[in-house]
Amino acid sequence: MSGIRGVRPAAEWEAVDITAWPVLGPLFRWRHLRSALQLLLLLVALVLVWDGLTGPQLAPTNLATTVTWLHYRGFVVLALLAFGNAFCMACPFMWPRLPLERLVRARLVWPRSLRSKWAGVLLLAAFLFAYELFDLWASPRWTAWVIVAYFAAALTVNGLFRGAPFCKYLCPIGQFNFVGSLISPLEIAVRDHNVCASCTTKDCFRGREGQRGCELWLFQEKKYGNMDCTFCLDCIHACPHGNVGIRFRLPGSELWQDRLRSGVGRLWRRPDVGALVVLFTFGALLNAFGMVSPVYALEAWLAGLLGTTSEWPVLGLIFVGALVVEPAFLLGGAAWLFRAWSGREEPLIAVIMRYVYALVPFGMGVWSAHYLFHFLSGFWGVVPVVQNLVVELTGSPWLGMPRWDLGPAVPVEWLNTLELGFIALGTWGSLLLAYRLARRDVPQAPWRAFAPWALLIGVLALVDVWLMLQPMEMRGTFLA
Ligand code: SF4
Ligand code: SF4
Repeated sequence: MSGIRGVRPAAEWEAVDITAWPVLGPLFRWRHLRSALQLLLLLVALVLVWDGLTGPQLAPTNLATTVTWLHYRGFVVLALLAFGNAFCMACPFMWPRLPLERLVRARLVWPRSLRSKWAGVLLLAAFLFAYELFDLWASPRWTAWVIVAYFAAALTVNGLFRGAPFCKYLCPIGQFNFVGSLISPLEIAVRDHNVCASCTTKDCFRGREGQRGCELWLFQEKKYGNMDCTFCLDCIHACPHGNVGIRFRLPGSELWQDRLRSGVGRLWRRPDVGALVVLFTFGALLNAFGMVSPVYALEAWLAGLLGTTSEWPVLGLIFVGALVVEPAFLLGGAAWLFRAWSGREEPLIAVIMRYVYALVPFGMGVWSAHYLFHFLSGFWGVVPVVQNLVVELTGSPWLGMPRWDLGPAVPVEWLNTLELGFIALGTWGSLLLAYRLARRDVPQAPWRAFAPWALLIGVLALVDVWLMLQPMEMRGTFLA
C-alpha cells in the first residue's frame, strides 16, 4: 500500500508487537493475567448483583444499573477503539469454569447445525429488545438477574461442551465485541510464519499439558483478523516458540479483502456474519432512536394502528422495521444502484455481503457516540452510589456523605461535539472502506461503484446526526 508522507507504512505498523515492549510485554506474557482480570471483574459483578438485588431500586442510586449501563459500556467501546477485545479478555462469566473444569471435563461436541452466528444474531437482537421492553437501565433488580443469567448460561454451555461455543456462537456481548474489534488497532497474530511452517506440535491450537490451545478454533498460522478472537492470550502462552504476539495493524484493513480465515472461513461468504454486521449497524441507530422523543410519537401511532395498549407488539414492529425492512430496502437499493452504475453483473446478495462490512466503522461510531455520551454524562455518578453504600453498610460516612450533585465528567456543551466527532470519524472510516472496495471491484471507474454506498452512508450519517441533536433521555442518571 502506498504510504502518506510522514505516516508510517502499514507494514511497519504491523511489525510493532506490544508483547515485545518492556513492561507491557512481560505483563501480557504473564500466564495469570487473564484470570487476575477475570477475578477482579468477577468481584465487581458479585457486588453489582448483591446491590441490584438488595439495594435501593432507583437506578442512579444503585451500583448494578450505574456501573453496568453507564461505565461498563463506555469502557467497552473505548477499549475496542484503543486496544481490542478487552472485555472478552477479562470476561468474568468465564472465571467460574476454571475451578469447575478440574472436577468435570466438558465432553459434548457443539452441534454442527449450530456452528454459525445465527443464534448469536437472534440473542443479540433479543437482548436489545429486552433492554427496551423491560427498561433494563432503570431496574437494578432486572440488571442483577441479567448478570446472573449470563453466568449461568456461560457456565452451562462452556462447562458441558468442548471449546468455548458460548463465546463463539451465542454470547450477545461477545458478538458485539467481535464486530467492534474488526476495526480495533491491535490483533493477536504470529510473529514469523516461517517458524509456524517448521513447527510440528501446533500447540497454539491444540494446547499442551497444563495450557489450553485456542478454544475458539482459530489456528494461528492461518488466523487472520479479529473475528471470533476473545484475546484470551491462550495461544501466546501455548506456543512453545514464543511466536505469537499482539500486533498493531491499520484499523479496518481486514475488511477490504476476503482472505480465508481459520475457524471463520471467508467473511464475504458468511451470510450469518453479514447479518450480525447489519444488526450491529442498524441496532446502533435503533438504540439511539429508542431514547429520543420521536419514538414516543411513533409508538403511540403504531399502538393506535394495532389497537393495543401492550408495548411488546409495538416495539416488535419497530424492531422488525428497523432491523429487517429498513436494512433490506437500503442495502438492496444501494446494491441495485451499484450494479446499474458500475455495470457489474452479480447477484444483489453477493454485492451486499461484500459492502456491508464497510458499515462497521459507522456502526462503531454511532455506538461510541451514544455510549460515551452516557459514560461521560454519568461518569461521577458512581461516587455518591459508593458513598451511599458505605453509609448503608457501616452507618458512618467513611467516604463522605453522598455527593448526589456531582455533574458530568466534561462540560455538558462538549457532549454534542464529542458525539458528532465520533459519528464523523465512523462515517469517514466507512467511506474509506467503501471506496477501497469499489476500487477493487471497478478499478477503471471506482467512483461509479462507490457512489451508491457513499449515498447510503451519507443518509445514515444524516439520520444519526438528527438523532443526536434530539433531546436525549439521560438514562440511569438523575437527569432522566
Ligand atoms: S503459533 Fe506457535 S504453536 Fe502455533 S503453529 Fe506457529 S509456532 Fe507452532
Ligand atoms: S486466537 Fe484463540 S487462543 Fe489466541 S487470543 Fe484469540 S481466541 Fe484466544
